[in-house]
Amino acid sequence: MTGRWVEVAKGVYARRYEELDLTVGLVVGADRCLIVDTRGDLEQGAELAAAVRELTPLPWSVVYTHAHFDHAWGTEQFLPCEVWAHARCAPALNEDVDIVRTDWIAYYETEGKPEIADAISRTTITEPNHTFTDQVELDLGGRTAVLLHPGRAHTDHDVVVHVPDAAVVFTGDVVEHAEHGFSAYSFSEGTDLRAWPDALDTILALEPRIVVPGHGEPVDTGFVAHHRDGLHELITLRTRVRSGEMTEREAVAASRYPHDVALAALATP
Ligand SMILES: [Zn+2]
Repeated sequence: MTGRWVEVAKGVYARRYEELDLTVGLVVGADRCLIVDTRGDLEQGAELAAAVRELTPLPWSVVYTHAHFDHAWGTEQFLPCEVWAHARCAPALNEDVDIVRTDWIAYYETEGKPEIADAISRTTITEPNHTFTDQVELDLGGRTAVLLHPGRAHTDHDVVVHVPDAAVVFTGDVVEHAEHGFSAYSFSEGTDLRAWPDALDTILALEPRIVVPGHGEPVDTGFVAHHRDGLHELITLRTRVRSGEMTEREAVAASRYPHDVALAALATP
């Protein structure tokens, strides 16, 4: 019951989880498969590896959409294999790792999920062994997966995975499908609010039929365009607050997003 596969195109899967509403991906070619993100700890990674093996016996590679723990800490269960990421992902994985680990252990203990806290405490973080800065094509056998950096957005090292023959794009947290689009977690110190709408335009230019976000159910291009417009709105509001034209309270009230989401966006560097 921990996870649920959704086949979004032939041989292209999203896997949905209740925990953090996380969504990871699997692209199956004729010769090998590609796993898009590995979940947040060694136990969750083991669950995902077993679930992939229910669908395909092919050798696998892994790609990280970004360094956040819930997307990238489940990898040791897949080794040895290729682990792809943007070149800036490895430094981000190592940055403040003890603080990240301590914070999430505390979060899960407070949430009454000590087994997840324990798994996080025992997890070894796996750095990528294959990196790129712009884009790279992986031949999976009769099918290509294009890994590309759409520019800075949710982090400075976001990667999206385009499967052209299926018209599917996996976006990590560059697109999030929380109840109101973004969540307060979408925006952090590593976020580049001003560049983010361009990253969404890059995704839209791929003309995907289905967009698989890093959290929440798959969406369409209309959803992506709506939140690109929402980001433009947040950028304008942030500028007005910083120039003293508007108070933070007025900006939050004027935003299409809930209070905590708008506040997190306004606080980005
Ligand atoms: Zn993230």
